[in-house]
Amino acid sequence: MLKRGSVGLKICLLGFLISRPANSEEALSWDQMQAELSERKISLYPVQSFKNLNDSRAWIEAQLADFERRIDPLLQEESDFRFIIRLAHLADEINSLVDQLEIQSIISNDPLQAQLYSKESQYASDWSTENLYRREDLYLRLKEISKKTARFSEEDQLMISTLFQRFEDEQYRSMKDAKAASQSFVVARLLAHLGTLEDEFNRSLSDFDTSLWFSGEELQGLRPEFIESLKYEAGRYEIRAASWHQIKQLMLYADRAHTRRRAQLALLSLGAEVAPFLAKPILQLRAEIVRLDGTRSWAFNQLDGLSIDTEAKLERFLLNSLEANKEAFERERSLALQEKKVQLRKSSAVIYSHDWNYYLERYALRLLEDDPAEIEGHFPIEFVIEKTFEQIEKTFGIRFQEIHDAPVWDPQVRAYLATSVERSEPIGLYYLDLQPRSRKSTDFFHSSLRQRSEDADGHLKLPTGILFGNFEKEIPLRFLRILFHEIGHALHDFSSRLKYQSLSGTNSKEDFLEAFPIFMESWALDWQFLQRISRHPETGRPLSDDQAKRLVSYLQTGQAHELQASVVDALVDFEIHRTANRDKSYEELNEIALDLYRSHFYPLNPQTQPIATSSHFVGYSSLYWVYVMGHEIAELITEVGGTYGESPLSPRLGRTIVGRLLSRGRLLTVDQIRNDFAADLRSQCRNGIEGLSSPKRLKEN
Ligand SMILES: [Zn+2]
Repeated sequence: MLKRGSVGLKICLLGFLISRPANSEEALSWDQMQAELSERKISLYPVQSFKNLNDSRAWIEAQLADFERRIDPLLQEESDFRFIIRLAHLADEINSLVDQLEIQSIISNDPLQAQLYSKESQYASDWSTENLYRREDLYLRLKEISKKTARFSEEDQLMISTLFQRFEDEQYRSMKDAKAASQSFVVARLLAHLGTLEDEFNRSLSDFDTSLWFSGEELQGLRPEFIESLKYEAGRYEIRAASWHQIKQLMLYADRAHTRRRAQLALLSLGAEVAPFLAKPILQLRAEIVRLDGTRSWAFNQLDGLSIDTEAKLERFLLNSLEANKEAFERERSLALQEKKVQLRKSSAVIYSHDWNYYLERYALRLLEDDPAEIEGHFPIEFVIEKTFEQIEKTFGIRFQEIHDAPVWDPQVRAYLATSVERSEPIGLYYLDLQPRSRKSTDFFHSSLRQRSEDADGHLKLPTGILFGNFEKEIPLRFLRILFHEIGHALHDFSSRLKYQSLSGTNSKEDFLEAFPIFMESWALDWQFLQRISRHPETGRPLSDDQAKRLVSYLQTGQAHELQASVVDALVDFEIHRTANRDKSYEELNEIALDLYRSHFYPLNPQTQPIATSSHFVGYSSLYWVYVMGHEIAELITEVGGTYGESPLSPRLGRTIVGRLLSRGRLLTVDQIRNDFAADLRSQCRNGIEGLSSPKRLKEN
């Protein structure tokens, strides 16, 4: 049992002082802000607004020409240290260009344009391979430096080894080194082929997207706004099997079991005709690569450097997670069963895989008692965002100020400058694109455009993040948790203190990546916080205590099922990629997946191919377990906080998370959190909030 740290009154007072949104209502002006930032050697990386494709083409060429001009002078650099830093930043900037074009593909909301921008992105990426990573002279110098890195900092060393790895891979891939490293060369070539086949596999899933047509009656139970947003033809509404969001809505709300069954079957049969043909060569290539490479399995390649680094440990971890979740899962399962019996007025019933979402949701909605729409009416998206930003400022010391005239791709998009309150320093650019538009994706997600970097001359480039969503007016209750989760990814990027993009923020180790966002989800389970972010549209009053508490129960329902699904999905990924299954066929692997769902979740239709969907076969490559790890770490952080009397919203816990975890990017390991986080929080409690505890600063406030 840990001892509680001392709690100083001064800190509480400071907490109050900094919590006042003193400047947050003053909107910034883009030009003035840019000028001030550039005086401080800080620059932003905004999302570009192109007039047309010619416009973007010219911009891309200008960028590439600039990069090209900077490559040769690198070799003139006498200092190894400066050489390496300049090279790393150049590589990072090219990556940003690639990501910029990916973002353009998302914001275009037009399938054809999206495809063109994806091609441009690929073009920029190929350009960097050809003109940077395959440069032998750069590679050789990097190789020399990488032999004597002891004098460099931990961060520089990690950057050098990451960069060197990339150069070395590309050297092997280029023909001229083929003889010198034939084995690695063959592996690299096979990997390239594999990549092409895997892309093809994913493309086949979206190419073979099935349209399901439902009558209004068949969609009974779904929200009217949702139905209105669907394509309507000849008396039927279109649901696309590849749209995760649409299928999820049907699974949650469609009253008719037949509708839910059809939707699930379509999702789990996506690309079933094509996938098996592509699967065979993919599996053969993977087995061949692993054999040549000498590593034991596909899964093993991915675990290198993570907290779980062997297959045996991973399997044990996942089985333990199943065990730990068992009771909660069974409890929810019986709630769903009970609900189904009541609804059908039967004394016995069975819960099927297409049932659990629906009946748990029915049960949960009854917890709300009032009309759920009445409760949801309390969460207009703009108000929720404003109040959430206020809480983020209190907890993490990160303030968001709107930039009223920032150039944006749609007039409804809003842009914010994030600032560290303690350091009075800008730390990021954040866009919210939350309004529906014609042909816009219905998904709700975060995208990082770039991460923080700082060059040898102290020139700072801030991270940029974008939150995409699709909300008419209120945020649906089931999206509240996701909202905090997605904002969590942005805060991770904004909290970085590292010099290299490739190591900063969300470029963290994969097993930590989802931990902080999952921790942020717990904000949705704090009833007083829910009150603060809620407002009745007419009376302006927040949810009552009782309503807010019932909303928490509603939001908690289904969590054990979600976690169970994550663990089973992680097991599926693991089985596909583990050594023991190296010679198994696609069909055999699918049988294993069906078995896992049968034993640990709900049996699926035996005709389905669950391994083809959810990016199991191609995509997560056995890394799906990072979600399960995210839950464990999030729980650990909450628990440690609780030991010191700190809630997930408390400034001391928040500052410790920012300073000790989020700021460290890829330097942070999950084991360090396990070993040091409690002590870190204890010292934070003793010393107060960094930078604000001195009397001088207190007066300024
Ligand atoms: Zn996430």
